[in-house]
Amino acid sequence: MHFDTLSIHGGRPDDQIGSVMSPIHVTTTFERDEAGNLGGKGYVYTRWDNPNRRQLETKLALLEGGEEAFAFPSGMAAAMALTQSVLEPETHLIIPDDCYHGIAHLVKSMLPKWKITYTEVDMSDAGAIEKAIKKNTRLIIIETPSNPMLKITDIATVCKLAKSKGILVGCDNTWTTPLIQRPFELGADLVFHSSTKFFGGHSDVLGGCIIVHKKNELVARIREYQVIGGSVPSPFDCWLLNRSLSTLSLRLGRQIQNASTIADFLKTKPQVEQVYYPGLPDHPGHDIAKRQMNGLFGSMISIGLRGGEKQALVFASGMKLFKHATSLGGVESLIEHRRSAEGNSPRSPANLVRLSVGVEYIDDLIADLALGFEKIK
Ligand SMILES: *Cc1c(COP(=O)(O)O)cnc(C)c1O
Repeated sequence: MHFDTLSIHGGRPDDQIGSVMSPIHVTTTFERDEAGNLGGKGYVYTRWDNPNRRQLETKLALLEGGEEAFAFPSGMAAAMALTQSVLEPETHLIIPDDCYHGIAHLVKSMLPKWKITYTEVDMSDAGAIEKAIKKNTRLIIIETPSNPMLKITDIATVCKLAKSKGILVGCDNTWTTPLIQRPFELGADLVFHSSTKFFGGHSDVLGGCIIVHKKNELVARIREYQVIGGSVPSPFDCWLLNRSLSTLSLRLGRQIQNASTIADFLKTKPQVEQVYYPGLPDHPGHDIAKRQMNGLFGSMISIGLRGGEKQALVFASGMKLFKHATSLGGVESLIEHRRSAEGNSPRSPANLVRLSVGVEYIDDLIADLALGFEKIK
């Protein structure tokens, strides 16, 4: 079945009473039969498994094209479980220098306690990755386009290099989703997401997931971190995500279309120093992006403003539809001055704002941006 059909019907359970939409199984436990065995569907206790979670995990595996998926209560819980399951003490991992700040935080301040070391690399440079590989490197994390600079990593090249050295590749596919970018087809071993973003799509549910390409020894280990570690999403959150996934293709299709028009519009504004969007032909990663992003370029755009930090902040709060807020991927457009959100060790340029383009009508979005530009004329 096509992606769009799977996003609606994938993982749909048989329902004895014929309800078209799945009920929310608000129960912590499940009845056993007279012999003390599990009931027909194999459910015991909701931390172990729950029909809503199973439905979500089945759909996620189908959409990403992997053999097994694991749902977590947030993207960071998924990243935590992934690093903990893959890495042993005394091992090393490689992360992008422009990496989601929560993952950089996890790697820099939590993993060292387990004697796990890391190297940050500019992943748009394959040579730099090769140089960073050590004897004890076990994992390379890819995030492309990167956050917030929208640098592009050639996934196939990194996977080929990693494979030749017996290193696993985990791809953070949050910003693209499998609708745009399919890391397993390019050689990745693991994909993870913050489902809070495009999968949820309405800025009302936190979630995360890991999907494995092949059922291997990692499956049992990740499952252990999920169910024994107790890192499980609620049945309601699974139900919400499952519903949201049904419209992923419609939402994201419109978001991409809007973003592409907006990127062209931003290029015409004298207040804009630089537009970071891989769909623009002058973006340094454009050719790779065109190939590995299925001709689509996502709905995230960053811009550098000529007026510096002050103007960036005025612009970010100067619109009506684009709300100045953290997060991304929802149906409503957001804008964020990343540097102010990065706490004590900010990395983003002071004049940079990041746009998450929603599904609103394009003329209204352009008019809203024009309103912001009026304020920094
Ligand atoms: C938001 C985000 C995360 C973290 O996910 P949470 O759901 O906030 O825990 C990880 N990676 C990327 C790329 C993100 O955008």
